Amino acid sequence: MRQKIVAGNWKMNTTVPEGVQLAKDVVAAAAAVPADVKLIVATPFTHLCPVAEVVKGTRVSLSAENCADKEKGAYTGEVSAAMLASAGCEYTILGHSERRQYYGETDAKLVEKVKLALANGLKVILCVGENLDEREAGKHFDVCEAQIKNVLYNFSAEEMASIVIAYEPVWAIGTGKTATAEQAQEIHAFIRKVVADKFGAEVAEQTSILYGGSCKPSNAHELFAQKDIDGGLIGGASLKAEDFIGIALGY
Ligand code: PEP
Repeated sequence: MRQKIVAGNWKMNTTVPEGVQLAKDVVAAAAAVPADVKLIVATPFTHLCPVAEVVKGTRVSLSAENCADKEKGAYTGEVSAAMLASAGCEYTILGHSERRQYYGETDAKLVEKVKLALANGLKVILCVGENLDEREAGKHFDVCEAQIKNVLYNFSAEEMASIVIAYEPVWAIGTGKTATAEQAQEIHAFIRKVVADKFGAEVAEQTSILYGGSCKPSNAHELFAQKDIDGGLIGGASLKAEDFIGIALGY
């Protein structure tokens, strides 16, 4: 059985006290969600330590939103994978389209980041997905395949056990436009095949593939009911505990 996951990506939102309160609200509401659904909150770096205290001993796991592509040293402003692990993170998101688009995140850098995250005991939520032009040109399969091959094909089948893939069509992120359940299922099945081609059917069957892009309580159920959709990476709707938990109740 693949792990079902609903992860909230808070992005650059909330002050530290607001984030701590949001984490408390998520923890308080989490009991309603079926026990086999893993709940994760991915917070800004500044929030990790206080939120780690809030989620300690609860069913909610902590994630960062990014990590450095260098181990340590003179890289002013960067935060290393070792720092994230020591702050209480279990996961880090890597390769989010906003980082690819605004901060020059390349697949080559992502290979280094994934290596360091895994070496420090973190699990990785690796984001892939096409932009609107690529979707309209019918290139979405090629784009996702290349992103997965360029990054994940550098790792082993054993390491894949610590990697979650999030398919996030860029045209659906924060736009209110959601991929239809059919569109999402089609590409999730394709992504699973790309994983199977390298690592075998068994690893592909165990790999959780999340959908992200304007997921909300009203559409989560239909998306999560698809055979190859194992949960969601949630942006805007994760900033209200009620909506975030409402999405997780979509299972
Ligand atoms: C995201 O950025 O990961 C995301 C899915 O955002 P939203 O839910 O706001 O579209």
